[in-house]
Amino acid sequence: MLQQINGQGTHSLLCSNDPLREDLQVFLESEIQLAELDDLIKVNPVTPATVLRCLQERYQVDVFYTNAGCTLVALNPFKPVSYLYCPELMRDYHIAPQLQKLKPHIFTVGEQTYRNVKSQLEPVNQSIIVSGESGAGKTWTSRCLMKFYATVTNSSISEESHERVERIEKRVLDSNPVMEAFGNACTLRNSNSSRFGKYIQLQLNRTQQMTGASVQTYLLEKTRVAYQAPLERNFHIFYQITKGASSSERLEWHLPEGAAFRWLPNSERTLEEDCFEVTRDAMLHLGIDHSIQNNIFKVLSGLLHLGNIRFAESEDESQVCQPQEDAKCFVMTAASLLRISKEELLETLRVRTITAGKQQQVFRKPCSRAECETRRDCLAKVTYARLFDWLVSIINGSICAESSTWDTFIGLLDVYGFECFPNNNLEQLCINYANEKLQQHFVAHYLRAQQEEYAAEGLKWSFISYQDNQSCLDLIEGSPVSICSLINEECRLNRLSSAIQLQTRIENALSSNVSLSRDKLSKSPNFVIAHYAGPVQYQIEGMVEKNKDPVPPELIQLLQHSRDSLLQKLFPSQEKEPEQVSGQSKAPVVTVVSKFKSSLEQLMQVLHSTTPHYIRCIKPNSQGQAQKFQANEVLSQLKACGIVETVHISAAGFPIRLSFQSFLERYDLLRKPQPVQPSPSSRLSRSSPTREHSGQQPSPEEEVGLQSLIGDILRTLPPMTRP
Ligand code: ATP
Ligand code: MG
Repeated sequence: MLQQINGQGTHSLLCSNDPLREDLQVFLESEIQLAELDDLIKVNPVTPATVLRCLQERYQVDVFYTNAGCTLVALNPFKPVSYLYCPELMRDYHIAPQLQKLKPHIFTVGEQTYRNVKSQLEPVNQSIIVSGESGAGKTWTSRCLMKFYATVTNSSISEESHERVERIEKRVLDSNPVMEAFGNACTLRNSNSSRFGKYIQLQLNRTQQMTGASVQTYLLEKTRVAYQAPLERNFHIFYQITKGASSSERLEWHLPEGAAFRWLPNSERTLEEDCFEVTRDAMLHLGIDHSIQNNIFKVLSGLLHLGNIRFAESEDESQVCQPQEDAKCFVMTAASLLRISKEELLETLRVRTITAGKQQQVFRKPCSRAECETRRDCLAKVTYARLFDWLVSIINGSICAESSTWDTFIGLLDVYGFECFPNNNLEQLCINYANEKLQQHFVAHYLRAQQEEYAAEGLKWSFISYQDNQSCLDLIEGSPVSICSLINEECRLNRLSSAIQLQTRIENALSSNVSLSRDKLSKSPNFVIAHYAGPVQYQIEGMVEKNKDPVPPELIQLLQHSRDSLLQKLFPSQEKEPEQVSGQSKAPVVTVVSKFKSSLEQLMQVLHSTTPHYIRCIKPNSQGQAQKFQANEVLSQLKACGIVETVHISAAGFPIRLSFQSFLERYDLLRKPQPVQPSPSSRLSRSSPTREHSGQQPSPEEEVGLQSLIGDILRTLPPMTRP
């Protein structure tokens, strides 16, 4: 079974005679000096600096996981540490009587969720929210957790069910290489960067066996099909087909060895992710047979040929642009692979049709060269985006269990972390909006968890006043007016307003919101949002167009006319004209923001109905080097993923956490000798917990003595951490 689980993974699991088993032993037995600081909340005092030092010291001795209250901080090792993810260790965590006694690990979180499901605690469904910046290890972590569940949910079942369950698990795990081949790409920050967000629900039956799973994806970066930033690449699948096709497939798909494609930059280097066989095998296991695969790869090759079509500027505006001399054969091949007519393809790329007047007269207007190329890119983007969505639906069809066969689920959320680049536009607004929502969800959950902890300790306390991120969310999504609503309005009214006009509208309508400002020194129209993770300046130029994401109706019609059976599925002929193009429709205009907002709302609803667990992945350096801890970079990520916030909240409550016993040993001399019954579980201190627990009133002198001592302790803390 382990071999099968491991089948498509990008890292190997261990068998018992593997030499890495020794490393595992060392890990299990090691007495790391900072072991007692396996929870950042225990660091005294809790400040960003002390937290950072603790993480650094642990990283230097190869300890990559640390708790931070109810979250787990996961530092990317940037080196193979297979011993940390081997099935033996999975089982150790699974059978441990007291999980909290084990070292922090993603398996602690995995096992905790599993036990919560088993014990039917309310809410019984669980979610693990894995966040962090690009390259921090979110997808790696999610993959390891899926393997963990596949291993442990299978460990206690009868022989007969074994094979069936293994088949299901294999399919669920096989969804990873397929989705990564089509949705991941090599970027400057990560050679296997997920260009979409993903929420996968692992479905469990009454006996906690995995019976299936379902996947929901968010915001695929479809522009990558037609545009790749310098030194970046297109989606892995394109490199896989061009490198891995057999000679007969090369002939059929028109992919001769060494052919140059403009949409396939940086293909000289072969990455681990370029392995076509892995994707094909996984597709097969998911029920995507050879002939459907062949169809998919032909369409993809058609898109590559489409990308090589370039146009020459026409001399006269009334004339259509001609394809450049070397591009004529690409027009022919693209049309033949996509099974559309060559003439119709050229006509659609070069001529815009405009319907106007009461008689709905149709006018034909030749496009400029730039417009032709925009239409070409748009054709590729819409085809790829629909292909991706269709694949996800096929995967769901293959792995999703009948609703009668499962009762509970464990959800794994792998979404893009907070982003702040020199240039931020609509994509970053959506991503950071999602992160604000998740942060709000986290803070509410964390404060509640802390409150429960205080109550369990029997401590009297008043609820800490905490600045939440509501004003920021009001600014982005609030009603009746918000940044989203104003951007959507521009699309709905289909008006030609400039970026400056939109900037003014935003400022006029939302000036009272404290989270909004503007960089007045910047020459281009912008707005600045004070996010919980720091301010981000967004460029307004191009934002409305991106939000409209217009697809000319002629392009859809062209694809509807295709004789290719896959394209016929992706573009059914009865499809209505997209609303955003007509602009006249009374129905709400579907924009990128409105679609994203509604899928985010659905996601939040699901998350609210589950018990959340948080894993914050951190990249110790941006070069991907092992053993290199860059404090500044880590600190900014701790801020971006809310750990600094967690630290602040915990400091705003009770910043010092001593066990009752050590508090007593240290300060008992201040008390007049009198019997006290300590409660060994008590760990928190702000006022005198001995009194809270003993129920006796301190004498005035004792009160003064204790207060002054506590004052002394508090004075040693930096101002930020004082309650
Ligand atoms: P993105 O947002 O770009 O998708 P990500 O957070 O999903 O990034 P991953 O792809 O999971 O990042 O990780 C980046 C790389 O870091 C992996 O390909 C792997 O090489 C390395 N890595 C991550 N986690 C681990 C780990 N626990 N052990 C060893 N290597 C790891
Ligand atoms: Mg990823």
